[in-house]
Amino acid sequence: MKKIASLLLLLLTVALLPSCEEDIEKRQVIFTATMPSDDLSSSRPGCIINGVPAADAFNLSDQWKTGDKIQIFVRQDGKVYQAESLSVVSDISSDGKTCSFEFVLPKSVKPESDYEIIGVTGVEAQIDGSNVVALCNLKRESFDSGKSVVLPMWFTAKKGSSKANFRHLCAYEILYVSNVSDASITFKHSGFQTQTPWYRYSASILLPDGKYGGKEVQGDAESNESTIPSGGTGTIVSWYIPNVTVDGVTINNVRLKAVVNGNAVTTTDALKSYKTFTYGSAYYMQVTWDGSTLYFSNEFCPDSNHPHIIDLGLPSGTKWACCNIGANVPLENGNYYAWGETTPKPSYTKSGYKWYIGGDDHNISKYCSMSSYGTVDNRTELEPEDDAAYVNWGPEWRMPSGHQFRELLDNTTSHWTNINGTEGYIFKSNTNNRAVFFPAAGWPSGNGGYGGEESGGNYWSRIMFNDEPQNYAVILGFRNSSMGSLTLAYYSRHHGSSVRAVYVGQE
Ligand SMILES: [Zn+2]
Repeated sequence: MKKIASLLLLLLTVALLPSCEEDIEKRQVIFTATMPSDDLSSSRPGCIINGVPAADAFNLSDQWKTGDKIQIFVRQDGKVYQAESLSVVSDISSDGKTCSFEFVLPKSVKPESDYEIIGVTGVEAQIDGSNVVALCNLKRESFDSGKSVVLPMWFTAKKGSSKANFRHLCAYEILYVSNVSDASITFKHSGFQTQTPWYRYSASILLPDGKYGGKEVQGDAESNESTIPSGGTGTIVSWYIPNVTVDGVTINNVRLKAVVNGNAVTTTDALKSYKTFTYGSAYYMQVTWDGSTLYFSNEFCPDSNHPHIIDLGLPSGTKWACCNIGANVPLENGNYYAWGETTPKPSYTKSGYKWYIGGDDHNISKYCSMSSYGTVDNRTELEPEDDAAYVNWGPEWRMPSGHQFRELLDNTTSHWTNINGTEGYIFKSNTNNRAVFFPAAGWPSGNGGYGGEESGGNYWSRIMFNDEPQNYAVILGFRNSSMGSLTLAYYSRHHGSSVRAVYVGQE
């Protein structure tokens, strides 16, 4: 009897075992996970908002690390269930780009029916009705020095799939802070003020001196503080988590709020006109503290009272205007002027030019030093009354000299760029992180018979070409990247060109 009972038990065990294993097998799901293919490196088109160079830019690509955990949710028949335990990654590839993980389907999920898997990592998520909502609490406790930052990511997959292709969850913003004031500062990043449905703040990392290895602050970015010495820089990486139930939302109308030396500072709303933030993208911005004001270098100006005097720290002390004559803001083209004229006009022809008698460019009535070109007066530099900057903006402003253009070229880092859809050339100081932007205002039609708006820019100096041909004046010209470069050149005086003023008044 006892033997029979044992045998029966054995039989029962034998009979039960396979079915139990089968059940676990059925409920166990194994995945191979990949990092997002759209690594947020600075070379990715659209990632650079203001032309900050990519060379030393933060690379937001990420790698799987031992101990990383993935929260798994399963949606079936409109209901969402969370897996009992977090999945720990394993089999991490040497480049950190792939790993595998497994989980067991929640008890309430019927494995024979259809379901959808939602995985979240790098950030805590929870069930909200039939959705999975990401919270602002970052899950990794630290980030690896010199490698990458922690990036919240997620994936969805259908039943039967074994691939978890993670996607970035947030919009990222990399903020370079320069302290050009005389004293060291404590800087708190209070985040960008944004519109819903984004979380106004999320976590930030402040990395003193642009190095990895700062501290990470969860949720409340305002508690993040770092000291930036005079002349020093810091890098802040922040991420903004969208409401994941809304797809394709944007952040716009952003203003930076910061606390410098304990005082709250808010930038102007000039960023309103900037590109919107979309999630999965990274944005690079530069902000400068000069001792009293927080500037965006891509913003150029501290407020909307243009024109501003921009001090690029040039050797001669020359300061440039933030915008063109006739423009309301730095990104506007403004007016065109023939050289030595002070009002714009519908067309720019020889016959309509003020200083050619009868439209004859060899019968010049002012600014001439060779009799073969007209009446010699040996004036080579525009007098104030013929200077479009002086006449339109007042005695504190003049059109630049050729030397001033030369100095601008020699003491700034300049390149063709696109700011909020406006093409042009940016000139960034080599010493203080301030910048001026010259829009590619082009030239009026009938102006030499070539080109077109936004393929280049021409900016008059106040200096005539004191050689042959005398009907030319010195100009700063640039063409877009496909056409070439930035150069000091000469241009027929009667053509319409932009004017960017230099400041000559008392501050
Ligand atoms: Zn301005």
